[in-house]
Amino acid sequence: MKELYYDVAIIGGGVIGCAVARELSRYDLKISVIEREEDVCSGTSKANSAIVHAGYDATLGSWKARFNVEGNRMMGKLAQELDFSFIQNGSLVLCFSEDEVQGLEELLEKGKKNGVEDLSVLSGDEVRAMEPNVSGQVVAALYAPTGGIVCPFGLTIALAENACDNGVEFLLQTEVIEVVKTSDGYDLKTNDSIIHASYVVNAAGVYADVFHNMVSEKKIHITPRKGDYLLLDKEAGNHVTHTIFQLPGKMGKGVLVTPTVHGNLLTGPTAADVKDKENTRTDAADLSDVMEKAAWGVKDIPFRQIITSFSGLRAHEKGNDFIVKEAEDAEGFFDAAGIESPGLTSAPAIGVFLAQLIARKAHASKKEDFKGTRNGITDPRKLSREERAELIKKNPRYGTIICRCEEVSEGEIVDSINRTLGAVSLDGIKRRVRAGMGRCQAGFCGPKTMEILARETGRNMEDICKNRPGSNVLTGRK
Ligand SMILES: Cc1cc2nc3c(=O)[nH]c(=O)nc-3n(C[C@H](O)[C@H](O)[C@H](O)COP(=O)(O)OP(=O)(O)OC[C@H]3O[C@@H](n4cnc5c(N)ncnc54)[C@H](O)[C@@H]3O)c2cc1C
Repeated sequence: MKELYYDVAIIGGGVIGCAVARELSRYDLKISVIEREEDVCSGTSKANSAIVHAGYDATLGSWKARFNVEGNRMMGKLAQELDFSFIQNGSLVLCFSEDEVQGLEELLEKGKKNGVEDLSVLSGDEVRAMEPNVSGQVVAALYAPTGGIVCPFGLTIALAENACDNGVEFLLQTEVIEVVKTSDGYDLKTNDSIIHASYVVNAAGVYADVFHNMVSEKKIHITPRKGDYLLLDKEAGNHVTHTIFQLPGKMGKGVLVTPTVHGNLLTGPTAADVKDKENTRTDAADLSDVMEKAAWGVKDIPFRQIITSFSGLRAHEKGNDFIVKEAEDAEGFFDAAGIESPGLTSAPAIGVFLAQLIARKAHASKKEDFKGTRNGITDPRKLSREERAELIKKNPRYGTIICRCEEVSEGEIVDSINRTLGAVSLDGIKRRVRAGMGRCQAGFCGPKTMEILARETGRNMEDICKNRPGSNVLTGRK
């Protein structure tokens, strides 16, 4: 077994682990991110609503409230620095009867106290003027212009790439099995190594309780809370322009309807506690429920345009708040546990908070050569005709379209494979450039993308996997 030494070992390459890694990479520290899957953004960070919440519904004084509002304020600048998709489209919380308007006023007051700016309550007619497809039953809505939508893969991968460019090592396909306290830090036993670290960040998503409870007597308990979604084709993407929530109440628990940054329409999620931390199967009855509830708030949703369903697991801790601190009885072990929604929104703020705590404790100084920016993959669709022609002249691969649904060129796919922390699986390519993300769900482009991945990485077609090892697409030749 190889032995590896780090100042800081971060368990988990989700949005939280990557945000902490990126912020810690500002300091003179030897850092690793340990991720059991073949790529970052393979857990909950890949399957959520992708909303940058405004911050009006988190309990006053909670960590959720603090990090949500801070994260929301940071997202625009971060998106510019790291070149990922973020749109501040604003959100609406609908209510369906005069009795419920009080509930909206309470949310507004809570939001103001949490520090959310520019909240207002609109009448049903004002809402319909903004969103013509909102139901005639709606009597009022809370409007939060600071709400937004983000690409969750784009955000997580950008943080990871930037951390990597600043010296963080990513140990992929490395599963932490045990964490043991030693005299000068922690030993992390993995499937193929022993990692010695002075400090540990526990960002293991739904598994964060397992690692916390290995080193602390103050036990925590995380319940996976599953949320199922339906994703609609881009043809339905303009059905609404704001993110539409419903006020939880007698109409049941809210299901949102939102555009995505890529122009699709998303609706969901359900909320059901499950025992199995790997259970991301969608359920037909739950998806019917999503359709029914979505239709209460938004009329005529073109459900014939559904292209896929998926589900994600919220890491619900029984204390109902984020746990972001050094464990009381395990010095040097820092938890980022119970990071359910609004974890995606909060990630940039949690990253800064934990990095500062650890750097102070480690007496680490800031590096002079930290590079705070990163260029994303060139997207020819965002270029003018002339710029696109110039790009294709320089590299003809940008002129060969591989994924017809999303118009993804060979040049983009090759870049997604060969760049920092490049894709090694079909899902990795899909999350970086959207090949296979469209209405045919890789039916047409899948084999071509496989060929490119095999060619660029010098592997056989039989060795190409959808995601983790064992998910091979081809099983052999006849
Ligand atoms: C249904 C749903 C809707 C949501 N909607 C929103 C929203 O709209 N806005 C918002 O702000 N937030 C939302 N969230 C919350 C947000 O998605 C999460 O808070 C966030 O993604 C959590 O990130 P994470 O890094 O903590 O966890 P993860 O992304 O799960 O990352 C943990 C990583 O740890 C790895 N890991 C686990 N065990 C090991 C091990 N033994 N060894 C090595 N690696 C390991 C996993 O493979 C995984 O990659 C939603 C969540 C869900 C489920």
